[in-house]
Amino acid sequence: MVQGYWRLDDWQMTPQQRLSFLKAHIDLGITTVDHADIYGDYRCETLFGQALNLDPSVRDDIQVVSKCDINLVSEAAPNRKINHYDTSYRHILASVDNSLSRLGVEKLDVLLLHRPDALMDADEVAEAFTTLRHHGKVAHFGVSNFTPSQFDLLQSRWDESLVTNQVEINPLRFDVVHDGTLDQLQRLRIKPMAWSCLAGGEMFNGESEQAVRVRDTLHAIGEELGGATIDQVIYAWVMRHPSQPLPIIGSGNIERVKAAKAAYDLNLTREQWYRIWVASKGHNVP
Ligand code: NAP
Repeated sequence: MVQGYWRLDDWQMTPQQRLSFLKAHIDLGITTVDHADIYGDYRCETLFGQALNLDPSVRDDIQVVSKCDINLVSEAAPNRKINHYDTSYRHILASVDNSLSRLGVEKLDVLLLHRPDALMDADEVAEAFTTLRHHGKVAHFGVSNFTPSQFDLLQSRWDESLVTNQVEINPLRFDVVHDGTLDQLQRLRIKPMAWSCLAGGEMFNGESEQAVRVRDTLHAIGEELGGATIDQVIYAWVMRHPSQPLPIIGSGNIERVKAAKAAYDLNLTREQWYRIWVASKGHNVP
């Protein structure tokens, strides 16, 4: 499992509390942290860096993932008129430099292209990766929200294996199970990272018919599994897929992070897995 830091700015923590949270999930064995340049309107990396700065030795205990290529309309970029994507050589290099400086680290363990860019020139991206590697600024590269063909295109120009495709997987939205994305990753033995496994909290409070159906089914399966909670059943459901997704936990509540880990001990039967599928789709399998 991975700890996500998208919502860090919402957690309203002091730097010391952020450091304590980080150390607490490291103690649980969750040592990979997921960031992006844009999180918290470009603020989350800085908040994380402030915490890390209180005890720089912690850097050696974690693997830092960050992302680039989304250009957000933001106070940080007053001349930008619309949100758009940018996978140009210049932007990728500048974005990584900004991330390193905000996080206060010398190197990213993994850099992901955050969203597919219609104007992506795969040769240019590979050149950027080569430069970043040459300067020791990034150890490994991957993508996020890429289709299999976009993944193939970039991989065709990059000599090393892309290390992941970070995609949305939760019981309300799991298109990647059926559109070839997870098939491709399983074939290549590359583990997906799974974002918003709890549908951003919608699993707990969503009022749509689909959310209510799924929630009832998750409750029932949790009972069958000896009193597992909804989130634990969901993580077990995500990890049950043979492409071996790595769930990214979005909670800033350490008790919830601790609870998530118990999902490793839950073994869903095939029938239980498909009951969640059926509850989500609202119809039986064909
Ligand atoms: P999530 O786990 O689906 O949602 C987290 C939200 O659910 C938090 O607000 C959390 O609140 C709430 N929650 C958790 N347990 C709950 C419970 N038992 N009852 C009520 N609410 C509960 O994850 P996410 O934050 O959407 O995404 C996880 C990570 O994935 C992000 O941090 C980011 O790193 C990554 N991500 C990547 C992309 C991408 O495009 N690559 C997109 C989105 C996210 P509390 O904090 O109060 O627990």
